[in-house]
Amino acid sequence: MKKLNSKLQALCLALQKRVNVEQIHLHELMSAHTTFKIGGPADIFIEPANMTELSLVMEEIGKARVPMTIHGVGSNVLVRDGGIRGVVVSLANMKQKLACQDTVITAGAGYMLKDVSEFAWRHSLTGLEFAIGIPGSLGGAVFMNAGAYDGEMSQVVHAVRAVGRDGVIREYVGPALDFAYRHSLFHDNGEIIGEIDLQLQLGQADKIKERMDELTVRRESKQPLEYPSAGSTFKRPTGYYAGTLIEQTGLKGLSVGDAQVSEKHAGFVINKGAATARDVLGVIHEVQRRVMDAHGVQLEPEVRLIGEDVDTSK
Ligand SMILES: Cc1cc2nc3c(=O)[nH]c(=O)nc-3n(C[C@H](O)[C@H](O)[C@H](O)COP(=O)(O)OP(=O)(O)OC[C@H]3O[C@@H](n4cnc5c(N)ncnc54)[C@H](O)[C@@H]3O)c2cc1C
Repeated sequence: MKKLNSKLQALCLALQKRVNVEQIHLHELMSAHTTFKIGGPADIFIEPANMTELSLVMEEIGKARVPMTIHGVGSNVLVRDGGIRGVVVSLANMKQKLACQDTVITAGAGYMLKDVSEFAWRHSLTGLEFAIGIPGSLGGAVFMNAGAYDGEMSQVVHAVRAVGRDGVIREYVGPALDFAYRHSLFHDNGEIIGEIDLQLQLGQADKIKERMDELTVRRESKQPLEYPSAGSTFKRPTGYYAGTLIEQTGLKGLSVGDAQVSEKHAGFVINKGAATARDVLGVIHEVQRRVMDAHGVQLEPEVRLIGEDVDTSK
């Protein structure tokens, strides 16, 4: 295993003074932190657990001037096989708060969307039913403006508290969040989302539960949830559905190594067991080329590609 460079070693020492050593992992395999179950090692992987720790960690990273990658629970990323250089800040343990006041839920970025949706239902709050089957963290869902079945995060997010590389906590409200299709302010400012206020409406618990169950059944019947994946591989091109275009081009079942266009839902690339990032990219590029040839439509990945290839030069 390659030794950390001197900058990263110094950062590691500084971080050990800010959080517990158990929250810092070296050469951590990202395949353990992605729903694709793919990805090489991250040099440093750190898991702050509350806003104070996040702020201290960011201050050190800002001072160290090293590359930084923000990570939720890895349900929308493909990490290349060579892993990630620098530091990965994982928000998966940011569960400092999950509370409800009137119709506002406040939650740490690390809560799974499913848990927040169920919390809303238990408090008879409606508006988050659409999110029940999206297997991401709340922070990742805000970053992506995740959505399904006519709902999206922009409809319910009221305020976000985020931290920049200076360690300062800032609050963003309403239009400042700059939501658009699979886009938010945080794509542009690079800050880490730490805590979110969701504005919901008072509803009827049984109706909320009924809707959540209905959407779960729809998802389970259509999506290949039995295999690791990162959900829809491509964004919805204007005027089309990516999955329909791929199916019409006859690409269901197309494979490179253990990566395959799902037979159940052509919009998903799945990992049939031992797929590498290189295999998945092989499938993605072939799908893009053949859909372009057949329909003249450029498919753009929704899955975010991070990290570097394995160095085969040595
Ligand atoms: C089976 C399956 C079904 C899915 N269905 C849907 C669906 O219906 N609709 C949909 O929109 N998506 C869907 N997805 C994709 C995914 O679940 C969402 O995009 C989710 O919101 C990503 O959250 P995450 O925590 O996994 O983020 P990650 O995959 O870890 O990260 C995604 C991006 O968000 C950034 N990020 C993560 N957390 C933070 C944070 N706290 N602050 C700043 N940036 C952050 C990361 O840097 C990265 O660029 C599906 C995925 C799977 C595997």
